This record gives sequence, C-alpha cells and structure tokens, in this order.
Amino acid sequence: MNVVAERAPRVERGAAPGFRRFRVTGRKQESESIVSFELVPADGVALPSFLAGQYVTLRLPLSPAETLLRTYSLSGDPADATRWRISVKRESARDGAPAGRGSAYLHEHVCVGDELELAGPSGAFVCGDDTARPVVLMSGGVGLTPLVSMLHRLRAMDGARRVHFIHACENGAVHAFRHEVEQVAAAHPDVLAHFCYRQPSEQDRIARHFHSEGLLSRETLQSLLPLDDYEVYLCGPPAFMQANWGLLRNLGVARERIHYEFFGPAAVLEQDADVASARVPPARIESAAMHTTTVRFSPQGEPVAWDPACGSLLEFAEQNGYEPAFSCRIGICNTCVMRLVDGDVEYTETPLETPPEGTVLLCCAKPSGNVTLALSDDADMFDHPRTS
Ligand SMILES: Cc1cc2nc3c(=O)[nH]c(=O)nc-3n(C[C@H](O)[C@H](O)[C@H](O)COP(=O)(O)OP(=O)(O)OC[C@H]3O[C@@H](n4cnc5c(N)ncnc54)[C@H](O)[C@@H]3O)c2cc1C
Repeated sequence: MNVVAERAPRVERGAAPGFRRFRVTGRKQESESIVSFELVPADGVALPSFLAGQYVTLRLPLSPAETLLRTYSLSGDPADATRWRISVKRESARDGAPAGRGSAYLHEHVCVGDELELAGPSGAFVCGDDTARPVVLMSGGVGLTPLVSMLHRLRAMDGARRVHFIHACENGAVHAFRHEVEQVAAAHPDVLAHFCYRQPSEQDRIARHFHSEGLLSRETLQSLLPLDDYEVYLCGPPAFMQANWGLLRNLGVARERIHYEFFGPAAVLEQDADVASARVPPARIESAAMHTTTVRFSPQGEPVAWDPACGSLLEFAEQNGYEPAFSCRIGICNTCVMRLVDGDVEYTETPLETPPEGTVLLCCAKPSGNVTLALSDDADMFDHPRTS
C-alpha cells in the first residue's frame, strides 16, 4: 500500500552543518507497514563506508518552521558502495496515541527524486569480524533492519561463520525482507532462517511462510541452536528484547555475547528481575575505592561508579534505569542536554553546537572525574515516551 498524500514543503538547498543531502533513488514497500528508501549523495561524491548495524540520522522538514531528527538503521549491504538503504516502519495512531510524526512524514511525503538531509553513519552495534564464532541474528518487528545488513556482511564472508537469522513478527502481512533473507539462506547452506509468526493468517499457513507460531520459546531456540558458543545480536521492541534476553541468558548465553540495540532507551532490560540479578549491581561510592570516577544524578541518586564500558553518559544513565530524552545520539540535536552541577566531562564526539555553559550533551560525553548532573530541575528531560 503506497500512501502519497499532500507534499510537505521541500527543504531549501544546502544541508545543515554536519548533514549531507541525499537523493531518494528508490522507494519500496517491504511489508504493510515498512517502506525502504534508497539514498545516494545528491552531490555525486562517493558514499562513506559503514559497518553493518550502524544508523544514520535524518533531519526531516515537517514545515518551514519545524524540523525533526530521527534515527534509522542502514538496512542494506555494506558492500554496496553505490547507495544506502533505510527501512522505516509507519508508527500508526493507536489506543488514543497519535501517529508517529517522523515515520508518517517519510511514508506520506517522501518519494523518488526528493532529497533528504542525513548525518552519520554512527553507532557501535556492529557485527565484529574478529571472531569465527557462529552468529545469531535475532529480531522482532522492525528491529530486523540492522540485522539484515549484518546478514549481508556475514554472507560475504562466505561460510566462515554459521548464521542463524531468527525473526519474529505478527504475520506475513507485516513481515519485511522475507524474500531477501530466504534468497541468502537458499544460496548459503551456512545461513539458516527461522520465522516465527505470533498470529499467522490462513494465507500464511497455506503458503508456509513461517516456521513456528506464537512467541519464540525456549524449546524453539533450543531446537534451532545446537550447543555452541554464539555471538548474538538482538534488536526489537522492548517486550521482545526483555523476553528473549531472558531466554538467551537462561540457555546459558554469556552476557558479553549478547549485543543489543534498542530503537529507544535501553533501561527496559534492567527491569527484568532474572537479568538484573545476573548483573553486577552498580558499585556505590561507599564500597567503591575513593579514586573511582563516580556519576551522580542529583538530587535523588547516590554516586555510582562510572562504567568505562559505557560509550557515553547517556548509555550510563540508561544502564542505571534512567530514561533521558534523546534523539540523534551523536551530538547533533541537543535533545539530551542536561545541567552539569559539578565536575567536568570530555566529549568523545564534538557536538555540532557547543551546549550552553554549565550543561552537557549526555550522548557524546564521558566524565573526566566525578560529576553530578541535575536530574530534578530538568525532570521533564527524563521519562519521555519510548520510540519503538
Ligand atoms: C539506533 C536507532 C535505530 C533505529 N532504526 C530504525 C529503523 O531502522 N526503522 C524504523 O522504523 N525505526 C527505527 N528507529 C526508530 C526511529 O528512530 C523512530 O523512533 C521511529 O520511526 C518513530 O518515530 P516517529 O517520529 O514516527 O514517532 P514519534 O512521533 O517519535 O512517536 C513515537 C511513538 O510514540 C507514540 N506517541 C506520540 N505521541 C504520543 C503521546 N502524546 N502519547 C502517547 N504516545 C505517543 C506514537 O504513536 C509512536 O508510536 C531507530 C531508533 C534508533 C534509536
């Protein structure tokens, strides 16, 4: 179903700093709710390379007065140096909530020949080449986009690693990339695809579009994954992530072997009791050595030992159960700005615009010594609705 509605005003020529203009050269309906856009640089200059799993940030001109920043994983083959592909799920209005604004804009207004502003690629949810371990690519709904890119990357390694592509969705109508994944699996005996439909339609049953029904279960995973030391990449909506993280951990997959990306804050995994108990609790200042760098979200939070494995203060806040607002995660949009009460930070990526004196962009900063960040007087910066 292609929805082409009244066109929004076109962006003026010239991209915002940090962004590049791309032309849409292809648009494809991948399922009832997901549309892919193929993108090439408008200036004809070569595309930068990207790692399978990375994302780009789009600057969408909703009106002459308003732009919106939204992040989309690159879903295409990283070896294709001629174009990028993003695949966007339309977030429809439901249960009284309005439709998603960015996805509606892309679905309704962006056609072949239009131009979009993009920044990136960015992101550390990437499929490493430094091991020969078999790989499990496990997705729910639109969470499959970065994993399809990883599938292409792994396929190019030609059997060097066994790949299990496990995808769960509602039914065949909303199942994107079925043919693309099946084609890869058919051509590569070391790629095994499994599709689990929660509520298959009669047509799905007749056409045998799926392999299991209901929710992914422990038994299904056990039957699909012979005992081995897997590297797992997990991406999907919060309930999917929570359930499958738990299943994988219960099946004995080590925490450090499960790589995941949320299309929103990651705090939800911490709410899983089993998982939470399996994690090392954040070290409080009383028990941590005094020279440990600590981060405190004032006024309620106690100082917590900084985890050097965190890429940013934003990740650290999410890891500790906070839900700061964010959008681009690469220092462009300033959504995650927060008041710095005490201490200092260093930037891992230079923010596009220097944040105001006494504030910090959480997404691209790390503490350089103990820091206190103001949670309470900017309470509305936390607790934003999750994107999915
Ligand atoms: C790293 C990363 C990669 C991503 N990759 C992809 C991808 O490949 N494909 C993809 O489709 N998405 C992806 N996303 C998600 C994407 O960035 C957007 O969050 C998504 O498209 C929704 O944006 P939106 O503007 O359409 O919805 P928004 O307008 O931001 O709304 C989000 C949700 O909140 C609901 N909502 C809005 N207002 C209210 C309200 N007042 N009360 C209650 N609910 C409300 C909406 O119905 C919607 O479901 C990714 C996100 C991240 C962080």
